[in-house]
Amino acid sequence: MSVIKSVIDKVKQTDPGQNEFHQAVTEVLESLEPTTKRHPEFVKSGIYERIVEPERAIIFRVPWVDDKNRVVVNRGFRVQFNNAIGPFKGGLRFHASVNLSIIKFLGFEQIFKNSLTTLPMGGGKGGSDFDPKGKSDCEIMRFCQAFMRELFRHIGPETDVPAGDIGVGGREIGYMFGYYKKLRNEHTGVLTGKALEYGGSLIRPEATGYGTVYFAAEMLATRGIDFKNKCVAVSGSGNVAQFAIEKVNQMGGRVISVCDSNATVIDEKGIDSDKCCYIMELKNVNRGRITEYADKYKTVCFEGKNVWDVIREQGIKVDIALPCATQNEINADNAQALVKSGCICVAEGANMPSTPEAVKIFQDNNILYGPGKAANAGGVATSGLEMSQNSMKLSWTREEVDSRLLIIMKSIHNSCLNAAEAYGKKGDYVMGANIAGFVKVAKAMLAYGVV
Ligand code: NDP
Repeated sequence: MSVIKSVIDKVKQTDPGQNEFHQAVTEVLESLEPTTKRHPEFVKSGIYERIVEPERAIIFRVPWVDDKNRVVVNRGFRVQFNNAIGPFKGGLRFHASVNLSIIKFLGFEQIFKNSLTTLPMGGGKGGSDFDPKGKSDCEIMRFCQAFMRELFRHIGPETDVPAGDIGVGGREIGYMFGYYKKLRNEHTGVLTGKALEYGGSLIRPEATGYGTVYFAAEMLATRGIDFKNKCVAVSGSGNVAQFAIEKVNQMGGRVISVCDSNATVIDEKGIDSDKCCYIMELKNVNRGRITEYADKYKTVCFEGKNVWDVIREQGIKVDIALPCATQNEINADNAQALVKSGCICVAEGANMPSTPEAVKIFQDNNILYGPGKAANAGGVATSGLEMSQNSMKLSWTREEVDSRLLIIMKSIHNSCLNAAEAYGKKGDYVMGANIAGFVKVAKAMLAYGVV
């Protein structure tokens, strides 16, 4: 039996029920098969066995008091997956669906994504099953403080540097950073995604969405195409979606969709910059639902459906798809519908938004498919730039950070293409991203001996 197959089998046996983690491990390891032949030293040193096992996984109680003076207990997680090339680094997710499997899948993906950025960052991820929806500002603050009351002892600027993810934006980072500072009596770059006033970086909020569009533009350029006048479907309406829409507009495309977990809005006229500002205000300030967009702009709205179901059911034509909501949002039927509608490019702003069956359909139909670990790496790359600025105690301009982001996205795109070609699968961004990300980490692990 190949080492790859035996490692996948062992993970499934050791961690039964961790479906998202199994999915991520299978997807990555299967594409690493050619590395076992070219690097027998990786096999001999048990790199494949070691890379699927987190350095440590911390699970903790998060008790807090709600506005009605009731004690609520949530579960907190931090999975420190791999620090071979730098401190653990990866976001915190607050969402009712969070469990160990989801945090492990995200932490595992983060190892390769961070390696691809070329910056010295290891992989980790954390979060809680806390649901921020409908909570008052005071409840959010009390929860963030309770969460940090335990997390603070496991993180540090040279150890583990968390950031945001679903349900964790500037407000939550502020509460957590403030509490860390209080507990440690230190003002250090222990979290990224901070506001400018206390050590944040310009362009960090924009970086994941902008980076995804930069990556898509690079993929399109390989076929002599650009965003001008293209019809673009975006899912989600949070941080990544908002800035993906902004960048698509700047590049001359027309975005026709957004969603949240309650509904999908289709706006065939295009979500222009004014409408995009409205979404930012609605979601980031008023904490409202996307159905309010449909009321304001008199557009169609499909309650209880995600963007990709609506595109399939309504037969909507789409040139480019940017899934920016959550994992496994595009299934095989949705992927078939995108192929049928003439879609030429899928770039993943979200992490693992396409099921394995959907990915296969994209690849079999010659769609330019950019997996999340490459396409959305601009977020963590700019977090890396925030860490550099914190260490140097200076701030770069917006133009400087944006131009570095663009250079990094181009370099990730090239690394994917180069690795794919070097390992015999020209144009395969999945294999390219996984191999390019893996080889650097594996070489570092090899250098350390068995630790
Ligand atoms: P946000 O919390 O800002 O936004 C998430 C959006 O997706 C919300 O509109 C949310 O709706 C929607 N959503 C979540 N779950 C579902 C669902 N099951 N069905 C339909 N819509 C859903 O998170 P981000 O924008 O930060 O993250 C989005 C994705 O991008 C995630 O996969 C994340 O891991 C990934 N990512 C984020 C990075 C970052 O820098 N923030 C970096 C790299 C990847 P609702 O408001 O109703 O919950």
